Amino acid sequence: MLTANETRGADSIAGLTREGYRGIALYSAVGGRCDVDLSDNTNLWGAPPSALRALATVGVTEIARYPGAYEPALRKALADYVGVSADMIACGCGSDDVLDSAIRAFAEPGEILCLPDPSFSMIPVFARTNGLRPVAIPLTRWLDADVDAMIETGAQIIYLCSPNNPTGGAFSRRAVEQIVNRAPGLVIIDQAYVEFGGDDFIDLASIGRPVLLTRTMSKAFGLAGLRVGYGIGSPELITEVLKARGPYKVSSLAERASIAALDSDRAWVRQHVEEAIANRSRFRAELATRGIGSLESSANFVLIPVNDCAAASRKLESAGICARPLRSLAGIGDAMRIAIGPWDLMQRCLDALV
Ligand code: PMP
Repeated sequence: MLTANETRGADSIAGLTREGYRGIALYSAVGGRCDVDLSDNTNLWGAPPSALRALATVGVTEIARYPGAYEPALRKALADYVGVSADMIACGCGSDDVLDSAIRAFAEPGEILCLPDPSFSMIPVFARTNGLRPVAIPLTRWLDADVDAMIETGAQIIYLCSPNNPTGGAFSRRAVEQIVNRAPGLVIIDQAYVEFGGDDFIDLASIGRPVLLTRTMSKAFGLAGLRVGYGIGSPELITEVLKARGPYKVSSLAERASIAALDSDRAWVRQHVEEAIANRSRFRAELATRGIGSLESSANFVLIPVNDCAAASRKLESAGICARPLRSLAGIGDAMRIAIGPWDLMQRCLDALV
């Protein structure tokens, strides 16, 4: 079991300690440039206590033996959380792994994967590493998916992200349903940030069309370091994703901690999601009073268009804060993406921005 000193040791590596958040290093030194990391939209309140307890009391058998090849217990716990059957869940080493596996399962090299622009930057990478051609279609002026333009690409896989990273907005049900109904192949709806807002689209996994929702334990559940993500789809579709993924992709420890959080700490997750949502509104309102515009967000981050993201980054870094600079986003230009956390961090960010 980790002692208090050992957990604090992890904090002091990061350069700062923060009592009250259960010894988790909320602050990291990204490239040694900052002590407050608002760059990756993880849970800035830490990790669920039950997950930490589960890790601290792990037995030797779980370390010495292999886990189940396809995580039966974790799939059951996730199915219970989401409200579907366990055969509708596929887990992976982060939702990255589920996305990558699904792309491999449902398209042949040379085919097109269509995604919105801007959207999650790893998708063109996964498309290319699987031999596909990524085609990015700009969002509409309302920052929704452009249904006709996406369908017209003839893509074998259409990727949607709602709430969308990095804009933060949720796609409309109308656009998503039209794409699902008209797409010739798989539609992926990436919902890494679904706990923070937007439609859950869970019904679309059971309408007899090839639809895969992907979600993660990395954001609202505070377990990014353990790398657990999951997909939701029909049992037939899930079987194909798992075949492309292969066995043993989730470690025993990750499975154990995730199950503990899903069984015992939904209230912890809900509480911090609610705080993030409240701080998101307050942060945007405070920015507005300082004359800084930001995009409406249904996620745990806010996108702020700026004249020059390198200059904005330097300003934040000089106050010890890292955020995500994004250059020349389609239809937006330069922008800073800033994760939402406890208010003291957001205040520090506000003070640095103006
Ligand atoms: N989808 C989106 C939209 C993301 O922003 C991220 C991580 N930043 C992921 C998927 C991957 O998350 P993970 O692999 O940690 O589940």
